[in-house]
Amino acid sequence: MVIVALEVGPLLSNAYLLKDEEGEAGAVIDPGAEGERIIARCRSEGLVPHFIINTHGHIDHVGANAALKEAFPGAPLCIGARDADRLTDAAGNLADLFGVPAMSRPADVLLEEGRELRFGSVVLRVVETPGHTPGGVCLLAADESPPQLFCGDLVFRLGVGRTDLPGGSARELAASIRTRVLTLPDETVIWPGHGPKTTVGAERSENPYLDLADPSCA
Ligand SMILES: [Zn+2]
Repeated sequence: MVIVALEVGPLLSNAYLLKDEEGEAGAVIDPGAEGERIIARCRSEGLVPHFIINTHGHIDHVGANAALKEAFPGAPLCIGARDADRLTDAAGNLADLFGVPAMSRPADVLLEEGRELRFGSVVLRVVETPGHTPGGVCLLAADESPPQLFCGDLVFRLGVGRTDLPGGSARELAASIRTRVLTLPDETVIWPGHGPKTTVGAERSENPYLDLADPSCA
């Protein structure tokens, strides 16, 4: 799988362009802003998105959904079922808070635990990880070597996602990290919603916030 990371918008969100190495089939994760730039990069990479996927419903991850859907109308817009309402709710997706007029289209596909999104030879499996938002999901490409995890705002290089926004839960975030991330092999590459990529092993040993995820704190 080819992975292109683009940092977009004022909040420096990571939009990920994924493409099968053998063909044009691909996916876009979290087109948060700068739709024209994301679309241009898809075209220059020879990538045809089969899915437009949001890890969660915050505006800095969904802001360019409409532009992507217009450019690639055949690609279903996918988001965790419990975050779907946020796409068209300017309070829920924080557009009001950030003073951004952008609004997404409604979802085409509601993602739930275990669902597989396939393009070319790539399989992304949906992992439900509430905490930053109730409907937050990770996308796990378990068949890649090493495995690749796209985790939105769940965990970052030396950090974790905010839980003080509407619908956030520190307890759920800790449980999601403990049971869905720290259970993956150390070599698993983590591609977060902001900042640089990392690995499960690096965060397990170096992330000071993961004490939160210690079983004794549950
Ligand atoms: Zn967020």
